[in-house]
Amino acid sequence: MTQPAANPAELSAAERDRILAKAALFSPPPATLPDGRRDLVGLSREELAAEMVAIGEKPFRAKQLWHWIYHQGVTDFSRMPSIAKTMQAKLAEKFVVGRPGVTTEQTSTDGTRKWVFAFRDDQKVETVYIPDQEEDRGAVCISTQVGCTLSCKFCHTGTQKLVRNLGAAEIVGQFMAARDSYNEWPTPTDGSPRLLSNIVIMGMGEPLYNYENVAKAMRIIMDNEGIALSRRRITLSTSGVVPMMDKCGAELNVGLAVSLHAVRNDIRDEIVPLNRKYPIEELMAACRRYPAASNARRITFEYVMLKGVNDSEADARELVRLLKGIPAKVNLIPFNPWPGSPYETSSNNAIHRFARIVQEAGYASPIRAPRGRDILAACGQLKTESERKRAPRAAASNAQAAA
Ligand code: SAH
Ligand code: SF4
Repeated sequence: MTQPAANPAELSAAERDRILAKAALFSPPPATLPDGRRDLVGLSREELAAEMVAIGEKPFRAKQLWHWIYHQGVTDFSRMPSIAKTMQAKLAEKFVVGRPGVTTEQTSTDGTRKWVFAFRDDQKVETVYIPDQEEDRGAVCISTQVGCTLSCKFCHTGTQKLVRNLGAAEIVGQFMAARDSYNEWPTPTDGSPRLLSNIVIMGMGEPLYNYENVAKAMRIIMDNEGIALSRRRITLSTSGVVPMMDKCGAELNVGLAVSLHAVRNDIRDEIVPLNRKYPIEELMAACRRYPAASNARRITFEYVMLKGVNDSEADARELVRLLKGIPAKVNLIPFNPWPGSPYETSSNNAIHRFARIVQEAGYASPIRAPRGRDILAACGQLKTESERKRAPRAAASNAQAAA
């Protein structure tokens, strides 16, 4: 007797659980210093209140602290005047308000700034600020993992094995440290302009393979009494982890960007190997289900232009066919080379021909000018030298092989 076919919703829930369980194998180290003090950054409001109760304080202290930490950007308890001196001392004994360490900070000739941030275990990631060239605004490109389990052929990060996931504190910390660097505290309110006005989760790593930490970090960043960045100013980029896209849409509903890069499964299998698991049809179906997909908030499709690989007119026409019915925008990214990279950037002609076909079908298709190439800060150029220190647990390496 054959088993009745499992229902697709159940299959996808099982797959989601598997992805979440695997993410837990690559957890960040605990948020406690060697001297036993705990970092308050990265705790949810409820967790912060619980910490206060645990030291015999009233839970409302959490609200005060939240304001100092996320609205004022203060890292020193003695600079929190609404908190009594004795209480400040008690807090300083038990807690810190942490930041990642700045290993290097470089500013490109075009204004793009890149930091290499080091965490407590000395693992490092890169974070980039890309200022708008006309207005006083710009996007901070945030990393979510040290390395990446996926190995997209054109991506420098993809050559670095996954070392571990970043914790919520480390994800929020990148944005806070970037704000420190531009002195953008306290948080501008009432819609007044912000230099660091947007977040793109497009740095190192696959955010949907570290969903819990990313979601927690985004909830902190979106909280109205703190950093208060609207979900409309946050874009999460995924290489296509289909089972997690629904969850992300239902729970966070931030802007979505999808690293499509090819319109035929045989080519996408080759350059974005995750496609072998979640092929183009499934990916496009998940995009159609994504709640943010309205004309006001289109899904961004990222498409790296690789000479002779994915840049023909036929590819452009097939792209238009795939996008049918999806409120979409296509970001054409000229391939950014890195040491040893196996591809060439498409010619200007090919890129413009491609853009025209997509545009004529009614989709905006800006050609993304490379930013910060001189400091290796452009898309796909991020990589840190850190390696996995301990042997991964057996289950972790199996899971990784299955990814
Ligand atoms: N892992 C996620 C988030 C990284 S986003 C994802 O892949 O979507 C970084 C974007 O830059 C992705 O669209 C990625 O495919 C693209 N990219 C990677 N390497 C690149 C390169 N060498 N040149 C241009 N874009 C690249
Ligand atoms: Fe990972 Fe994204 Fe790079 Fe692919 S493009 S290897 S998913 S960081």
